[in-house]
Amino acid sequence: MVDNMSKRGFDPLTYRFEDQIPKPGEVTAVADGVFWIRMPMWGRLGHINVWLLRDSDGWTIVDTGVFTEEVQGLWQQIFDKYLDGLPVTRVIATHLHTDHTGNVGWLCNKWNSELWMSRADFYMCKVMAADRPQDVPEQAITFYRRAGFSDEKLDHYRQRFGQFGKSMDPLPAGYRRITDGQYIDIGGREWRAVIGYGHAPEHVCLYCPELKLIIAGDQILPKITPNVSVQPSEPLANPLREWIASCNHFRDILPPTLLVLPAHGSLFEGIHERLTALIDWHEVALEKLYELCETPKRAVDVFPALFKSEITDSSYFPATGEAIAHLHCAQERRILRVEEDDDGVAWWRQA
Ligand SMILES: [Zn+2]
Repeated sequence: MVDNMSKRGFDPLTYRFEDQIPKPGEVTAVADGVFWIRMPMWGRLGHINVWLLRDSDGWTIVDTGVFTEEVQGLWQQIFDKYLDGLPVTRVIATHLHTDHTGNVGWLCNKWNSELWMSRADFYMCKVMAADRPQDVPEQAITFYRRAGFSDEKLDHYRQRFGQFGKSMDPLPAGYRRITDGQYIDIGGREWRAVIGYGHAPEHVCLYCPELKLIIAGDQILPKITPNVSVQPSEPLANPLREWIASCNHFRDILPPTLLVLPAHGSLFEGIHERLTALIDWHEVALEKLYELCETPKRAVDVFPALFKSEITDSSYFPATGEAIAHLHCAQERRILRVEEDDDGVAWWRQA
């Protein structure tokens, strides 16, 4: 996730439960049978919000936190204190990223519970976890060289490759598939799966009409825009088109009066305003990108159009993926065009 704060003065969102942020190992009730847990994690975000839902014959957990002994210890504290002697029967992962899936295997083994997930994210997660450090694909090197990576950055990529699987307990062999629009009974209430695209292959959000809330994962965050990236595994993809379409779709089908339960940051009301702001942010970024490409630029040259903060070593990869996502979207809209030089580097300019 890249720091690209979308704050532009007035903030139309209303934040809720800000004085009831759960302490480590504690829960905060935010609706009937819906409990908020906050787990510590690395990086600038510093935390992830995960959810404990009272189910008919036990509990459902939505997202799991990162794969560390600290987080597992906090889960144990919660199990000891808040489960009323009932088991965790189901674990739902909103999407494949390891702050969400890190402890899926551990939880499912511990409780013999089912994993529920979208199909694309289940398999993509398995594939990424199977990458071995020694198997850096040459196509990925070509992809990042095309984006403008220096030899030093390419070495950095080689060193990072194959680490995904180390940051999670392996997923169970089998799972229950969640599809868009699916009805899921949790604790006798109707929850609807709403699938979003652009940040993950098939990101699951869970909307409960009766409770007037939505568990949004990373699909709808306050204050920051989720990373929307092109990856070497699908080098010509246009995830930004899908992302913007998802924001529009969510705004069309969801009522404006929901409480949004995001994976990072504060709970809030104002889902339509937030979706509009997310779309606007990318549209403005595309305009800035167009201006910047008055003279030819590589993907790694266009960060100033997209990010306010300085790009560090750790944010360089997601920033590059996000830059390419914007370039591909601009290319499909025919406002930018691309030419490759003799070294295989792509140079983007106004069409
Ligand atoms: Zn994510």
